[in-house]
Amino acid sequence: MADNDTRRAGANEDEASLDFIREIVAADHEAGTHRAIVTRFPPEPNGYLHIGHAKSICLNFGIAEEFGGRCHLRFDDTNPTKEEQRYIDAIEEDVRWLGFSWGKHLYHASDYFAQLHEWAVHLIRAGKAYVDDLSADEIREYRGTLTEPGRPSPYRERSIEENLDLFARMRAGEFPDGARVLRAKIDMASGNINMRDPVIYRILHARHPRTGDAWCIYPTYDFAHGQSDAIEGVTHSICTLEFEDHRPLYDWFVENLPVPSRPHQYEFARLNLTFTMLSKRFLLRLVNEGRVRGWDDPRMPTLSGIRRRGFPPEALRAFANMIGVAKRDSVVDYAMLEHCVRDVLNLECERRMAVLRPLRVVLTNYPEGQVEEFEAINNPEHPDAGSRRVPFSRVLYIEREDFMEDPPKKFFRLAPGREVRLRYAYLVTCQEVVKDEHGEVVELRCTYDPATRGGSAPDGRSPKATLHWVSAAHAVPAEVRLYDHLFTRPDPGAEGDLLDDLNPSSETVLSECQVEPSLADLAAGTRLQFERLGYFCVDPDGRPGRPVFSRTCTLRDTWAKVRARGK
Ligand code: ATP
Ligand code: MG
Repeated sequence: MADNDTRRAGANEDEASLDFIREIVAADHEAGTHRAIVTRFPPEPNGYLHIGHAKSICLNFGIAEEFGGRCHLRFDDTNPTKEEQRYIDAIEEDVRWLGFSWGKHLYHASDYFAQLHEWAVHLIRAGKAYVDDLSADEIREYRGTLTEPGRPSPYRERSIEENLDLFARMRAGEFPDGARVLRAKIDMASGNINMRDPVIYRILHARHPRTGDAWCIYPTYDFAHGQSDAIEGVTHSICTLEFEDHRPLYDWFVENLPVPSRPHQYEFARLNLTFTMLSKRFLLRLVNEGRVRGWDDPRMPTLSGIRRRGFPPEALRAFANMIGVAKRDSVVDYAMLEHCVRDVLNLECERRMAVLRPLRVVLTNYPEGQVEEFEAINNPEHPDAGSRRVPFSRVLYIEREDFMEDPPKKFFRLAPGREVRLRYAYLVTCQEVVKDEHGEVVELRCTYDPATRGGSAPDGRSPKATLHWVSAAHAVPAEVRLYDHLFTRPDPGAEGDLLDDLNPSSETVLSECQVEPSLADLAAGTRLQFERLGYFCVDPDGRPGRPVFSRTCTLRDTWAKVRARGK
């Protein structure tokens, strides 16, 4: 069973098999239905993009690349009350960061406001749209339910002249917000509620980031989307499943308006990830309530968050490939995303030594004032990455976790009387444990074996453990932030309020870390592996002489394990 699941999830690793969307595109491409394949990514600039959007971006831009077509970036900016320029800027940055380019094809639904308005008038003239004076609540009530047909609004049979006049006065700003709407006149008895005379224009006396005060009526998403696709010559308008029921409406507009091309909408399953909530509205709430450091908090599933966390864009593209595109909703294991991240980081990252919870070690037989330098390999996966010199001296720090006074059977690291290897340096033996007045271990007094320089003993003895370390006199103090899932359960919100499932210990700040000197002044965004601890990314919160690192992920690959178990 597990094997099947894994294979399904990894179906696209085999490039020969196409997902159902690509199959459709390939067939149209072969049949020569279109001069070129044109897709679009249509974010609403009301928040930052998240990993779910990355799936859509990879799909839309990926298809355009694969079929020699093009993909437009179009801002779906039809609701000026929620949209902001900073979101537009961030979205552009995120798409570029993922490695895609829209070339000169940057568009906005607002570019088409004049055309859309003209088409609304066209519908009125054709007797296919009317101005309704019912309130939003009344419209909802008249619309009926899944089991009951809707009732016609008392204003449904207004004359074309009256509708033209009222719509012109809506446009001229004569009425307050919500006083009237323009509705398409389709079918109040339709089995599809979206077809029961949907609202296509609403009054909103709001300044628009791009069109300013030019308009006080704005088209709805449904009235803007397909027409925008048609204006731009989009051939395949790919969106998520929640728009499936809107497709008849999408088609109705392009069939009833003199649009310049005939686009088609296709729906795929949105990405859901365990332990993660992918909804701009909810993420906005986390930011507004101060539950995270901001949109780019490394725990956030936003692209800006995971970028700051150290996820490389190649990993997201590989992830999008691996999960494929399906017609049915499913939930992807977060471990699979981390697996893709580790795959890239393992090849790319230089290795360094950092001690997160330092324990002081004094080598009692090492000469005072002496400093040696050891050659440390930067990346065993990449000989070209070369090596660096790491200073070693009499006083060192090791990881507190690497010592136990009274070790259980399977603990092979340092303990009283035991010998371990210090990576690249010497074998050392713990001779004495120093404690403070509370009985806490504050220092280990060890001896080193000068004959083991470089880490191997002439007599062939080889300790079971190799520890990372830093030289106290040379180390740089640093802050390291460790992360856990933002939520405590894989299905946040499944049994109550989402906020109740927030993980109170999703972030651990370690402020007394000691790292090797080469980590002092790296550019924010630099990705590294700290030996034995995981992958880390230099955080922009750092100051000169006091860097801050975010842990991207640990070294353990739980997804590889899950997969191995299935085999
Ligand atoms: P949210 O629900 O997070 O607010 P949205 O759908 O409202 O997202 P849009 O800006 O409208 O956000 O989305 C732009 C595109 O991204 C749409 O085509 C949408 O279908 C797609 N998209 C949004 N969320 C996901 C997801 N989880 N998986 C795949 N595609 C998604
Ligand atoms: Mg949306």
